[in-house]
Amino acid sequence: MKLLSLLLPLFLVVQASSQDYPKKCDRCEDLPSLMKELKEQEWLRSRFYTFSPWEKVYPRTAGSVKDLQTRVQNAFNAWLKTPEGGGGVGEPTMGTNPEDCKLAFFLKDADGNTSILPYDEKQMKQRFCKTILDYMLAHEASHQRTCRALGAKNKAFLTVPEFVAADEVKAYEAGIKALEKTINDLAARCKEKGTTATYLLNPNQEISPAKVYQSEDKVRRIADMLERAQREADAANKSGSGRK
Ligand SMILES: [Zn+2]
Repeated sequence: MKLLSLLLPLFLVVQASSQDYPKKCDRCEDLPSLMKELKEQEWLRSRFYTFSPWEKVYPRTAGSVKDLQTRVQNAFNAWLKTPEGGGGVGEPTMGTNPEDCKLAFFLKDADGNTSILPYDEKQMKQRFCKTILDYMLAHEASHQRTCRALGAKNKAFLTVPEFVAADEVKAYEAGIKALEKTINDLAARCKEKGTTATYLLNPNQEISPAKVYQSEDKVRRIADMLERAQREADAANKSGSGRK
């Protein structure tokens, strides 16, 4: 199964003028932009939630993980254009590779082509200030925990859009928590008003098939379906390579 194309990206608003974030974001005058960042992360979290199995009212469905990501990114960009969104363009910046649970980052060249590279701390420190990088890493650490806990046996759940949506909610909330804390520490230091983030998940919510679907029966049906799809893909690969 080609999972690399399913790399779980973290969306961030990339500055129009350059890919680089300001090198500093720990000054009092940085508070408003950090607050905007927090609002954006909360918006993304809420959007992924609507695709998750926890959404009880009108859950959205996505055809694939790629479809899920495209739909969230498009909706995010549409929201950014509204007065509430406050402008900018959202792009994937960093991600976790479901194949080996390792970090990767997205790099766009001058022609606008994006490549995915293994995580490089030095490069990331050049591109993002500490506060931003720290919350991005908190987000990715959450994906890495899910990825490792799933193990080889259940890894195929990372190809199921609503499971991935649930894992994104958890990851965005981990990032939001880190960002909220830095903002409030900075606000206190600057004698400014801090902020209170909203959370949709219990902090102890575990991201496993059983905990996300809350029904053994549903988990088994999805696992069976994934196994069948894998067998069919393997068979197709075999006959395909035989012809070449
Ligand atoms: Zn993510």
